[in-house]
Formats: sequence, structure tokens, C-alpha cells
Amino acid sequence: MLISPERLSQSETVSYRLSKSKFLSGLQCHKRLFLEIYQPALATKPDEITQAILDMGTEIGELARKRYPGGVLVEADRKHAAEAIAHTKALLADPSVPAIFEAAFMFENVFIRVDILERLSTGESGESIWRLIEVKSSTRVKDVHLADLAIQTYVINGAGVILAKSCLMHISTQYVYPGGELNLHEFFGIQDCTEPVQARLADVPDKLNEMKAMLAETAPPVIEPDGHCFSPYECQFWDHCTKGKPERWVYYLPGGDRTYRQLARLGIQTIDEIPAGFNLTTGQRRVKDNVEWVSPKLPIMLKTVRYPVHHLDFETFMPAIPRFPQTRPYQVIPTQWSNHVEYDDGRIEHDHYLCLDQKDPREELAVRLLESLGREGSICVYSDYERSVIGRLAEALPSLRQELQRLLSRLWDLFDVVRDHYYHPAFKGSYSIKSVLPAVVPALGYGDLEIRDGEIAARAYHRMLFDEMDWVEKARIREALLKYCARDTLAMVELRRELGKKG
Ligand code: SF4
Repeated sequence: MLISPERLSQSETVSYRLSKSKFLSGLQCHKRLFLEIYQPALATKPDEITQAILDMGTEIGELARKRYPGGVLVEADRKHAAEAIAHTKALLADPSVPAIFEAAFMFENVFIRVDILERLSTGESGESIWRLIEVKSSTRVKDVHLADLAIQTYVINGAGVILAKSCLMHISTQYVYPGGELNLHEFFGIQDCTEPVQARLADVPDKLNEMKAMLAETAPPVIEPDGHCFSPYECQFWDHCTKGKPERWVYYLPGGDRTYRQLARLGIQTIDEIPAGFNLTTGQRRVKDNVEWVSPKLPIMLKTVRYPVHHLDFETFMPAIPRFPQTRPYQVIPTQWSNHVEYDDGRIEHDHYLCLDQKDPREELAVRLLESLGREGSICVYSDYERSVIGRLAEALPSLRQELQRLLSRLWDLFDVVRDHYYHPAFKGSYSIKSVLPAVVPALGYGDLEIRDGEIAARAYHRMLFDEMDWVEKARIREALLKYCARDTLAMVELRRELGKKG
């Protein structure tokens, strides 16, 4: 792709500005940085889940400021960089300001905003010493956070501010919410990253120079998409970069980047070109063979269920900010279940639970679950998730512990049966129920549902309970949640039935 002559002449004269997020994009992939600067319209818009993560980051950032009473926010946005920098300068010079939020700095054409800049001390000369605090909604320091702190430290140093420490503030999963006001000193942990950040500082000028040289080119660098496009962040140019790839591109072979890179090095583009002698796992072999496969043991495995067969699915949410006493940040809280019961005469009954009140739902949910599952029959699930949810409920609810633990021996995992005994080309290597259901039971997909994904369901639940909205919207979300969870359990009933015809 070549940049137009007009754009070319612009790029020679316009000094684009880098930011810390652009710097991080450049560390991930030079092509990504190039496209973000010159052709942002090629990016795919963030989906609902990505947007929810971004919104949560904003909420956590605002909460973190409350730890610094008297701190002053630099309000000018990124379109008003000069005002933001001027306001920051004034606040730096005012010793009565204990902390600055969103302080703005520019050095070597890199513009940054700092979540929290805390004044540690002011000397007799009037010069202050500062602590840089980057706020993240994650629960630990990651490698990308150090790169993030390194570019900020580089720019702040360059702007002449004395920085004593570079720290990361993150959410502490050790914090148990007692109810009432959050204790922000316990909810957030602060990790001093000064040493590892200092170790990275020496690399920053070289990295910046490489990026600037690349950005002076007239076309993006030729970089093949692969696993690097998802680490540390999913790149929004994936659709653009892969649009010319064949339908059976080797990257789609399950098994990760190593196999893909091996095959790419051999010049192999499609799964069908993989040579017969190439070492593949059983799962990869099925994708390569691309034909329906039924294990002779499938009928036997399907008959190992005991009637009445319950088909169980939970929905959960994991609020970063704990909502209920005695819970931790990001604790998995089950909020909903669906149970389709199939009797040996073919009858089907449906039961469900969905907590609609702002309260810890776990005890009520568990009591109703035990009633619904009774003491007989297999409990068909799809994956280990239901086992882990029941296990956590048993831990949290001593009075129901034994009864809940008894359920574990009745669990019967349809996922294992499908993975080990059946393959359909439409799975494309994925055994997720979202891939398996439309292939085996084409009449019953998820396409007609408003909510089609567990993460979206969790987000919708959170909104329904804690956001301001009218009752019509609440009712709409409630219906969508009920339909989604019920579809997951009906899917298991129909999958067992259809697979039973394959033997
Ligand atoms: S999709 Fe991958 S190759 Fe393309 S710009 Fe993004 S990170 Fe780079």
C-alpha cells in the first residue's frame, strides 16, 4: 500500500506526534503504528467487550484519584495539548498542589498524560520531587506496563521534572470488601517499578528513532499477521491485514504460533498444502483432513448418561469493584442458571434462575439450584466451568457445602465427548459450543439472540443491575439474558440427540 502524493508531502512536513499508546503500538508492531498514524480509518471499531474494558479502565482511573485528596485535574483534552501543558506547568510550580491528575508533557515530539503525579517533597529552592503513578485495572504488573512507565518516565525526565519513583497502581485481589465505602488504600496496591523501568530507559531513544524512521517511509512496513497481533493487545487492524488470506489459511490451524511459523517458513499458505509427513496433533489432523469423523465409541459414550438428564449452564459476572460484602475484586459471582431436564420418555422440562436484585445472589441461587437438580440423574455440562462455579459456591456456603459437593460426582461433560469422538469440518478446529451447535444442529444457532456471548451477558447483567435505566430497558435485558442462558442448555439437549443419530 502506497501513501498518496498529497499524504507523502504532508508526511515530509507534518511532524506527527507520538503518544504513549502510539509508542506501545509501535513496540507491538511497526505496521500497526504506521496505520494508526496515517490510515486509522482501516481499523475495526472496538466491539462491545473491548469498549466495556476501556470504560472500566476510565472508572478505575477516576476512583484512584480519590486516594489523593486535594489533587488537581488538568482538564484540557488531547486536542488542546498546549493548554494542558501550560496548566500542568502552573500546577507543578504551585507547592500547595499535592498531586496532579492527567499532567501533560511533551518531549522529542512525544506527548503524554500521566494518570497521577504525586508531589513527594519540595526543597528550599522550590523544586519538587515527584512520584509517577500509572493506574491499571489489572491485578498485577505486566511487561507492557513497564514499557508504558518507561516512555512516561523518559518524557517527564526530558521535560525537566525530578522523578523519584515510577509506580504502578493496580487492583488488589487480596482486598475483601466489608460493605459500605471502599477502602481505597486496600483496594489498590502500589508497586514500585523504578528499578525495572530505569533498566528500560536506555532503549527508549533507539526505539523512538526506529519508529520515527519507519514513519518517514511512504508505505507501511511489510509485516505478516500472526500471534504478535494479539499480544499484549489485540490489534484493530487484524481484519485489514488478513483480508486477502485464503479461507483455509495455515494460521487457522489450532495449536498456536509455533506450528504456524514452522509452516510459514516452509512457504505453506493453506492447510491443504501441509505435506502428509508433517507432524500434526490429532486435533490438527482432523482440521487438515476436513471431513466428518465419528468415533466408533460415540454411541457408547452418549449412553453413559443417567436419566433424568439435567443440562446445566451458569452465567456469572466478575465486577472489578466488589458489589457485595465479603467478596473480592474480580471474584466470579454466579447470577443465573438454566436447567433443561430430559426424561427417559423424551419429555423436556425447563427451569431457570436469574437474580434481579442488587444483592449477593449466591445463597438463593444455590438453594434453587439444589431443588432443581434433585438427587437423581446426570448433570450435563459443556466444559469445566460449571464444576468450578459449584466448587466455589460450596466453599462460600458452608451450610450447603455437602449438598453442593455431591453434585460434582453427577457432572457429565459433553465437551469431552464431542472433542474425543466427533469432528465436523464446520468446527474449523474449534470445539466451543458456538462452533459445534450450528454444525451439528443447523436449525438452532445463536444468530437470532440479542446476547450471544458469556462476556456480553456479564456486561449486560452489570448494566441491568447497577446502571441508571428505565424499566423497559431492564425488562429487555432480562429477557435477552434468559433466552441466552436457556439456549446454551437447550443446545446440549439437541446436541446429544443429534450426535445419538451419528453412530
Ligand atoms: S494486524 Fe498484526 S500485522 Fe497487522 S498491523 Fe496489526 S499487529 Fe501489525
